[in-house]
Amino acid sequence: MIWADRLREEIKERFKDEIAQGKELVIRDEKTLSGRVHVGSLRGIVIHGVIAEILQEEGIKCKFEFELNEFDPMDGLPATLDKKKYKEHMGKPLFTIPSPDEEEIKALGMDTEPGENFPSIFAEEIKGVVEKINLPIEFYNLLPIYKDGRFNECIKDALENASAIRKIYKEVSGGEKPDDWYPLQVVCEKCGRTGTTKVTGWDGTNVTYRCEEDMVTWAKGCSHEGSMSPFDGNGKLPWKVEWAAKWKVLEVHIEGCGKDHSAAGGSRSIAKRISEEIFDYPNPFDIPYEFLNLGGKKMSASKGIGASAKEVSDLLPGIILKLLMMRLVPNRPIDFDPTGKTIPNLFDEYDRLSDHFFKRHREPDEDFARSFKLCQMDISKDPEDIWQMRFSVLSFVLQMPHLNLLEEAEKLKGSKLTEEEKNALEERASYVKAWIDTLAPEEYKFVILESTPNDLEFDEEQKIVLEKLSTALEKAEWEGEEIHKTIHEVKTEADIAPKKLFQPLYEIFLGRKSGPQIGWFLSTIEKEKALEMISSA
Ligand SMILES: [Zn+2]
Repeated sequence: MIWADRLREEIKERFKDEIAQGKELVIRDEKTLSGRVHVGSLRGIVIHGVIAEILQEEGIKCKFEFELNEFDPMDGLPATLDKKKYKEHMGKPLFTIPSPDEEEIKALGMDTEPGENFPSIFAEEIKGVVEKINLPIEFYNLLPIYKDGRFNECIKDALENASAIRKIYKEVSGGEKPDDWYPLQVVCEKCGRTGTTKVTGWDGTNVTYRCEEDMVTWAKGCSHEGSMSPFDGNGKLPWKVEWAAKWKVLEVHIEGCGKDHSAAGGSRSIAKRISEEIFDYPNPFDIPYEFLNLGGKKMSASKGIGASAKEVSDLLPGIILKLLMMRLVPNRPIDFDPTGKTIPNLFDEYDRLSDHFFKRHREPDEDFARSFKLCQMDISKDPEDIWQMRFSVLSFVLQMPHLNLLEEAEKLKGSKLTEEEKNALEERASYVKAWIDTLAPEEYKFVILESTPNDLEFDEEQKIVLEKLSTALEKAEWEGEEIHKTIHEVKTEADIAPKKLFQPLYEIFLGRKSGPQIGWFLSTIEKEKALEMISSA
């Protein structure tokens, strides 16, 4: 059983009463929109999304709500933006900050229009990425929930229980909060910042506060002192308290989080206790997950590939992107090196999984078949069995200007391609082509040599078998399967290790020790030229 199904069983057990009552289970995740969303965040999105899909698959009512957080204060700036220009905005809620202009958007590596405010361009970008994976996600914004007063009760509870919350912080993480600390930050009536305000008192109706000049290093307050209601969006809970409040307000049942929050003494443990002890709401079903490590970072940066979800999603079709994010159990890190073998390996893995799903494999494995099903864009129906060209072959064909992709595909398949197969081929080809042009390592680059290299060194055995092969091929019909058969016959007759025959062939034609499937490969070269090159070796 794969991880997602194991989790489903645990979820069904924990929420059996709710499910029996036909209650809708709420799955939640979030992202603060202070910059482009990092590719690592996609892992959480896919994990939660897949859980939603497989619960729905069994007819269990659920929804996956994804929060676009535009109310957090700006506490850091994407590296390409001008620190001086944004200095005045530091500490303000993100939604009050104007959108980056066209030039800044370009510097961020994005190609969108300026939006209605700073976070909106990042919201649109991540929505686009998620659309590509087609998960059942409902997006919502945080601010309206505050404005509608839905957090009011939790804000009141937090203020009333300030000392209990301080105690939880201390017991869980050892972090001391001063005795006069209140778990709330209001929006300063004078400068509009939330990141710099400190609540100094609470009388049951209003809070008093001071906008501190030096409370944080990343923003300067205006020193204003005032008093106001903390409700209806005037104030914001600090995030560990807010996290717990969101669970209660949105009635969250299932919410995982990244390793950074899951560690002992980390924010999840704090939010859990606040939820249970202050808000009287159970800790949602947790799914701790590991990071996604972007390898070849320097190299990819020099090739213009950044670490954003959008940039990585541009490298892969939706299905393969989803496979990347869900192929491992959540507690194992994902290593993704766009400049290495990860991309070809992912396509190959997808094809291998399909062999299990469609029972082309001699011993079909249920877990592999299930993984194949779950990375589809619509898991409610079985995928169609279509012919696909392997990544390595496709990358080879695309590098051979004399070859026609569709013709080679039909040769390899042995019959005409269906419309669906043609579409799949074209989609795959567009990604593979972009990969060859930008990221492909040298070992995936092929050029057919004009003539046989003259520095080849073969032993006697190899020389004899090449000669035999040349004679045998002369009689063969120049077609992949036939060439393949002939080569194998010569090899068997000469009783030579396959490598000792195949390697010289690749060296003769490609100047390297390996290459695509040999029979088909030779068929893409003119017979006369091929025979001449083998003979002169
Ligand atoms: Zn202020």
